[in-house]
Amino acid sequence: MKIQQMKIHEIEIHEIQIQIIRKPVKNLRLSVHPPDGRVRVSAPLFMSYKKITGFVESRISWIRQHQERIRNRARETELVYAHGQTHFFQGQPVLLNVEKTTGSHSLIVQGDEFCHQSENGNPADPPNSASLQVRVRNPQNPEQVQRALEKFFRMHLTEQVQKLIARYEPILGVRVKDLGIKKMRTRWGTCNYRTGKIWISLEMAKKSPRCLEYLVVHEMVHLLEPSHNARFKALLDRYFPGWREVQKELNGGDPNGSLEWVRKVD
Ligand SMILES: [Zn+2]
Repeated sequence: MKIQQMKIHEIEIHEIQIQIIRKPVKNLRLSVHPPDGRVRVSAPLFMSYKKITGFVESRISWIRQHQERIRNRARETELVYAHGQTHFFQGQPVLLNVEKTTGSHSLIVQGDEFCHQSENGNPADPPNSASLQVRVRNPQNPEQVQRALEKFFRMHLTEQVQKLIARYEPILGVRVKDLGIKKMRTRWGTCNYRTGKIWISLEMAKKSPRCLEYLVVHEMVHLLEPSHNARFKALLDRYFPGWREVQKELNGGDPNGSLEWVRKVD
């Protein structure tokens, strides 16, 4: 049997370039791709051209909407992960200092608590500001910067949370069986009472050590009491006095003040 080849060609509909890929599929499939909003249609091998273009035409406004959204997102990433931007680390603002490297990507934290450095005293910088020096192969590529930053946040956060767990396990008399760090959209952390696994949001790397400590204790107390009932609150009062204030701080929004979702301690 001869292997059927994919046939690819480009058309333009309402000033939108569309790539049509014919392949052995049953249905038409329309997709819009980052970073520039490229449009692709995969179509069955023998479907008529008219049917394909008719399908695309009926979805022009959907395409435009998605292109707009994808391009906006790309612009935001570009802005957020650019040299000189302020990010938050351990509850403090740090300046992003992006540099080019020919070696592997790395990230160095410089500043107040880490190792004091007031480099060339840029008057626009807040006094004693800390900086995150990110070395990537292509400083113009925001995804590279983002990846390096997130890798660093993940490593740092894992280390901090592990220390907190080790400290609180004998105090609470519980055992955390597993720890995971991941990007979460609506939660700072979660705890599985049955499996003993705790998940912490990667965003917590941006929060103050006090907030992180509270979150870890909160999740660990869930191993004693899964719901947010009176008993749970009494346990928190005992093991983390002043938790209400910290919870308020944590739920008060994102320190970045950016387009973040409201997160809750769960
Ligand atoms: Zn909770």
